[in-house]
Amino acid sequence: MTIRQLRNYIDGRFEDGASTFDKHSPVDGRRVAQVHEAGREQVERALRAAQWALPAWAALPVAERTDYLLALADGIERRFDDFLQAEIGDTGKPVGWAGKIDIPRGAANFRTFAELARTLDMESYMTDTPDGGQALNYAYRKPLGVVGVISPWNLPLLLLTWKVAPALAFGNTVIMKPSEVTPSTATLLAEVAGEAGLPAGVLNLVHGFGPGSAGEFITTHPDIDGITFTGESATGAAIMRAVAPGVKPVSFELGGKNAALVFADADFEAAVDGVTRSVFANCGQVCLCTERVYVERPIYERFVQALAERARSLRIGWPLEPDTEMGPLVSREHREKVLSYFELARQEGATVVAGGGVPEFGDARDQGAYVQPTIWTGLPEHARCIKEEVFGPVCHVAPFDTEEEAIRLANDTRYGLAAAVWTQNLSRGHRVAQAMKAGLAWVNCWFLRDLRTPFGGSGLSGIGREGGRHSLHFYTDPTNVCVKL
Ligand code: NAD
Repeated sequence: MTIRQLRNYIDGRFEDGASTFDKHSPVDGRRVAQVHEAGREQVERALRAAQWALPAWAALPVAERTDYLLALADGIERRFDDFLQAEIGDTGKPVGWAGKIDIPRGAANFRTFAELARTLDMESYMTDTPDGGQALNYAYRKPLGVVGVISPWNLPLLLLTWKVAPALAFGNTVIMKPSEVTPSTATLLAEVAGEAGLPAGVLNLVHGFGPGSAGEFITTHPDIDGITFTGESATGAAIMRAVAPGVKPVSFELGGKNAALVFADADFEAAVDGVTRSVFANCGQVCLCTERVYVERPIYERFVQALAERARSLRIGWPLEPDTEMGPLVSREHREKVLSYFELARQEGATVVAGGGVPEFGDARDQGAYVQPTIWTGLPEHARCIKEEVFGPVCHVAPFDTEEEAIRLANDTRYGLAAAVWTQNLSRGHRVAQAMKAGLAWVNCWFLRDLRTPFGGSGLSGIGREGGRHSLHFYTDPTNVCVKL
């Protein structure tokens, strides 16, 4: 089997790194790619290329600039199978998820922000002046400049393009650094940029790690004009410290410890379906996944049994088999972390209602990063397993008696990313959703989104919002122009 070479893309050309590291398959542990890690000098050159390309890119007529974005979307769609194979190869996620969510959303992100850039209006006010006249005020929005995009491994193409697309649409140039764990689709995106004729230097790719590597070189560089980052809360804190001396804009989409509240009046089957999906989608490795479920006492026992039944019957398998519902975790390293929480939960007094271990296949998958879908009950409120993000296919289920108690339990977290409410009482749905400490609150659904709405969280879950006009605000710098008429 050929080992793919994943290189850096700087100033419109692919080049080797200063060193290399190996990428292994999470399915069976095989070495699948050699990744070229960018050195400091390469990050510096990527930055200079992005600076050089910036004035012409920012000055392009919007229609021309957004034509490039549409060409990038077309390129992803034209090479759909390449992207699909690369994403599955890196993450082990089931083809049903990657083919329906990750790759289509990669293209959709470019289309959405192309459309937004083309239809933007401008904030403006007519103001009375002391001499009885008027002045026209308008907010003229300029690109931030060179934006550093640092992305995680869980939805590699989706989350990378979620930031690259608006950055480019609003006239910025970009240095992107994908996760070292999932470097493949970013490399394909750079290829597509070349095929689309994107001017050299507008989109640069550097591979590498965080500390002491490309991630740190980007975040500590004084000439980067803004940093947009998705990843762990602790990494966000480290990046915040790194950028502090430069006092520059940051947008952080970080971790979560999301709650689902199931009221006794919910459509029971729909709630079981929805909660199952929200806990186990992408092997629990979506920042929006539910890790805490609170169920109103009259249906608690029945709900736990139904959820456990679903967990046990999930089809865990080879990613490319169409009926596989759950693949491996992203890496053996991440599996160690998840398994350490399985152990901690036992020490903290959990009852393991489903799963709790590692599946055995008797084939090459035993060398991979699989774990069983797992359900806990009986943990005390203060348990670390209730407080800390596990980022695996696991949740804790606990009962509640009143709406007030449900809200208190759900909001007893330092995160503030997502929540879901299951009820057929419409007023309660709105009321509880609005009371959630969360940037996104769903009622009777999960993961649905309009890309124009604000996305992000507060507390340990992040700083700022992206999506639609919220992205415009992050990726541009307004000058208020006041014209005396
Ligand atoms: P991570 O923080 O380990 O890594 C993310 C990226 O940051 C990688 O590219 C990594 O190389 C880089 N990095 C690490 N340390 C760095 C440093 N000191 N300086 C600069 N760059 C550095 O996150 P992960 O494990 O890849 O992703 C999983 C996490 O991401 C989970 O916590 C999940 O909740 C979160 N996440 C949040 C959202 C959201 O929208 N809120 C979406 C997806 C994932």
